[in-house]
Order: sequence, then structure tokens, then C-alpha cells
Amino acid sequence: MQPIVSYTGHTVKLGDLPVERVLPVRNRRMVGPWCFLDRFGPLSFTDAKPMDVAPHPHIGLQTVTWLLEGEILHNDSLGCEAIARPGSVNVMTSGAGIAHSEQTPRQHTGKLNGVQLWVALPDTRRHGPAAFQAIDRVPQLELPGGIIQLFAGSLQNVTSPAQHYSDILGFEATLHPHTTLELDLNPTWEHALVVLDGECHLENQPLTKGPLYDLGTGRASIALRATRRAKLLLIGGPPFEEKILMWWNFVARTPEEIAHARNLWLAHEHFGDVTAYDGPRLTAPDLLPLRRP
Ligand code: MN
Repeated sequence: MQPIVSYTGHTVKLGDLPVERVLPVRNRRMVGPWCFLDRFGPLSFTDAKPMDVAPHPHIGLQTVTWLLEGEILHNDSLGCEAIARPGSVNVMTSGAGIAHSEQTPRQHTGKLNGVQLWVALPDTRRHGPAAFQAIDRVPQLELPGGIIQLFAGSLQNVTSPAQHYSDILGFEATLHPHTTLELDLNPTWEHALVVLDGECHLENQPLTKGPLYDLGTGRASIALRATRRAKLLLIGGPPFEEKILMWWNFVARTPEEIAHARNLWLAHEHFGDVTAYDGPRLTAPDLLPLRRP
């Protein structure tokens, strides 16, 4: 069993919205097939529009949007529209290419609190068609130590309807105070967790809000304990066997693929338009020399 290693993320701006990026970090590029984790909020607002990400392209990945509070309106170049809310999950599969926008809808609760994750698509699926799946309510497991909302993969004979193309696990756990939440894990998989609210203990190590706690492989179970109500996110999967290259919104394998996708976006080719979005689309940043992974 590997020791728990904590990695501090860094703050980046998504338009005007500050987000904490805890994956990838310098020494941990992936957790199973998960390759990206942005944490935003909690925040309250009145007339502002905290999330407003204009149309932008993706290749080679799935986006998974999971909210604790508030709502995000998704529109894409397939013509799909959906509002993510707490308890629901939106899974967008880019395949070879899709464009989408994400914004705070006109009607909102004045709150925003959640995460966006990316899943790297395996080579067998990454050149395939784009797709979008909105799941209104993910499966919930009520356990003695807490409540689990399973948005990806399977746990204790319960399976999320979200479609993925690698073995995967992703859930939010709400821990009841002064009890222990015990869960079986696949010891051959990598796992990591992020405390979203409150604090808890794992193997006598205190876990606080913010960092990515990398559990590595080799854990057949975990026991989480909180002294007050706490929420955390757990992600996992078998070590991803393919070396990926990430740049901007693209997950690829070579610098040439990245440059090609960027050129197509700049030329208004291949990705399609997000006609439901009112405003200009994002432009790609300058391409710096990329190293082959
Ligand atoms: Mn996106």
C-alpha cells in the first residue's frame, strides 16, 4: 500500500471565475483515466454571471460536470442543451471533435459550487463520434457512514448510467459525523480524493479542503471518518496505459495532432458551431513547442 501523498493545485482563471486546478499537477498527471480536475466555488452572486465560457473545442476526452450547488447551462455543436444541477451529471464525449459553451443560466439560485473533470479517451474511442449524455439523478448509496452519489463507474453492485470507455470510478461522499464510512476499492486501481467541504480523517491522516490526496494503488478498502459533516470526491481507475499529451482543451498523443486540431478550430472547420450561444467563440492561445510524451 502506498502512502497518501498530497498535491496542492494552483488557481487559474476561467474567464472571470477563479478555479482551483488539482489535476494535472507536477508529479501526478492522471488518476486512472481521469486527467483533469477543476474545483470552483462555493460562491454566491446576485446579478453577475460567474460562469461564462464561450464556445471552445475539445478532442480526445470526456468532460464530466458535477455540482454541489447551483447550475450550469451546457450547449454544444451537436445541438444538445442541458442544465447541470446538484445530483445530476453531464458527460460530454468529444471523440474526434466537439465544441461547447458553459454558462450560468439566466434563471439560477445565485450559487455556484462544483467540479469539472476530464476523462482521457482510449485510442480505440478517441477518433469516434461526439456524444452528450445528461443524467438527471445519479445512483445514491445510503451507507451507515454516509451517502454516496455515484456519477461514474460501479460501487457495491450499483452502476452509474454514465457511459465511459475505460474502467473508472467517480463519486461524491457525504460523511455522517462521528461514524466511519468504509468502502472496498480495487487494489489494482489508482485512487485519489479531494475534500470538498469540512474535513475528515483517512488512516489517521487529517484531510483538509483543497489538495488532491493521491492514494496510489494497493488499497483494497478505505475507512473515512469525520467529526462533523464532510463532503469529498473520490476518483479512480486502472493506471492508464497510453501516454497522453494535453494542451488547452485537447487531449492527444502527439504535438502534430494538437497543432492540427488548433488549426481546424482557427479555420472554423471540423468542430461545428454552438449556435445557441450568444457571442463570439474563444480563440486558441499561441501554440508553444510541445514535447512528445
Ligand atoms: Mn470545455
